Amino acid sequence: MRLQTLLSPLALSCLTAVAAPGQAAQYPTQFSPALARLPAVRDALAYVDAHFGAQVAEWIRVTEIPAPSRAESRRAAYVREQLEALGLAVTVDSIGNVFARLRGSAGGPTLVFAAHLDTVHPIETDLTVTRKDDGTLHAPGVFDNSASVANLLAAARALKASGLRTKGDVILLFTAQEELGLKGMAHWLDHNPRPDHLVALDGGLGPVLYGALGIYWSRMVFSGAGSHTNTSRGKPHPARAAARCILDIYTVPLPPPDAEVGAVYNVGMIRGGHVVNAIPEEVAFTVDLRTVDPALLERLDSTLVATCQAAARAESVGFRREWVQRSAAGGTPAQLASRRAHPIVQTAIDILKHLGWDFSRGPEAVASGSTDSNVGVVRGIPTVAVGRSRGGDQHTLVEWAHVESARIGTKQIILLAAALAGVQ
Ligand SMILES: [Zn+2]
Repeated sequence: MRLQTLLSPLALSCLTAVAAPGQAAQYPTQFSPALARLPAVRDALAYVDAHFGAQVAEWIRVTEIPAPSRAESRRAAYVREQLEALGLAVTVDSIGNVFARLRGSAGGPTLVFAAHLDTVHPIETDLTVTRKDDGTLHAPGVFDNSASVANLLAAARALKASGLRTKGDVILLFTAQEELGLKGMAHWLDHNPRPDHLVALDGGLGPVLYGALGIYWSRMVFSGAGSHTNTSRGKPHPARAAARCILDIYTVPLPPPDAEVGAVYNVGMIRGGHVVNAIPEEVAFTVDLRTVDPALLERLDSTLVATCQAAARAESVGFRREWVQRSAAGGTPAQLASRRAHPIVQTAIDILKHLGWDFSRGPEAVASGSTDSNVGVVRGIPTVAVGRSRGGDQHTLVEWAHVESARIGTKQIILLAAALAGVQ
């Protein structure tokens, strides 16, 4: 997952102050401590504790199975085997999602838990996990998102072993190609009945995400006829156009830092040319544009493209924009106020608090996020994303995760299942 909080601290404080001034906001919740005391729920939570050592061993095993996006099949096969060992009927769909259903007893709401299988790390990456004395695991992908895969498998076993039967169906979904623009999740929602609730398991433990950061990835391509250096004087030059465009792009105004909704963009890759002694026929760069505001996203995108078109005209070269990926924005905090009020958000917060998570260092809920949950948010499905453990440096070779906090990440799945799908 790529999480970017593009809301200012001011905006975050606004989000928690929906009630009248001086009064804490009251949001509906489906969690109560009594729910956690039901015998089957207690048994499921105790199962997690009793098997936590095995869960960590499996977490390490999952991390060490390479699973770059589009090549998740080995990790998917492992997950399938584990679900089948629980007696579940498992489906692997055409994009590589793996899913199984824990049947509910009484036609309650259907709840999907989604943990992405894929990582950003190439197949040849050394994924050997090292465990340090400070209670952390270190390896590429150990945090994003092997921790959630292991948590969801452990929670599934706990639900089965305890006999905790929810009213609604609980669907265990392990998605493919999340890192390529949430493709597996979109594919699943396109081909399955709409669930009543969606919970993405991704990101560090902490704020419950109920929005969707809009992300547009473009490749801006400048092209021309090329020419040997000897005959290049005065000829149209794609590199000059690209250079001019990059400089111009960085003069496009963004909302001020204290604005309620921010935006950011970045030129991350520049490519072009084959030889030293010629004008290149093509020069391209990428733009990563992000904001939670759909209208702002469109406006900035149009401005960036127009800026490139102007640079191409000025240098007499061709221009085209190629889409790399596109994830829709979920809306401004004001637009998302009704989503914050949906019980799924406060339920997730209350469960984390019940499990001892300390929110004093950060907000309880954020109207942003960039996980499989985005797909549910923009389709209007009551959706949140919740974390897996503490950890950091995701998408790098020095990624790490805190072992003990995954216990909370796992138990929250059990309590979310009980609260959102209902118990008898
Ligand atoms: Zn992720």
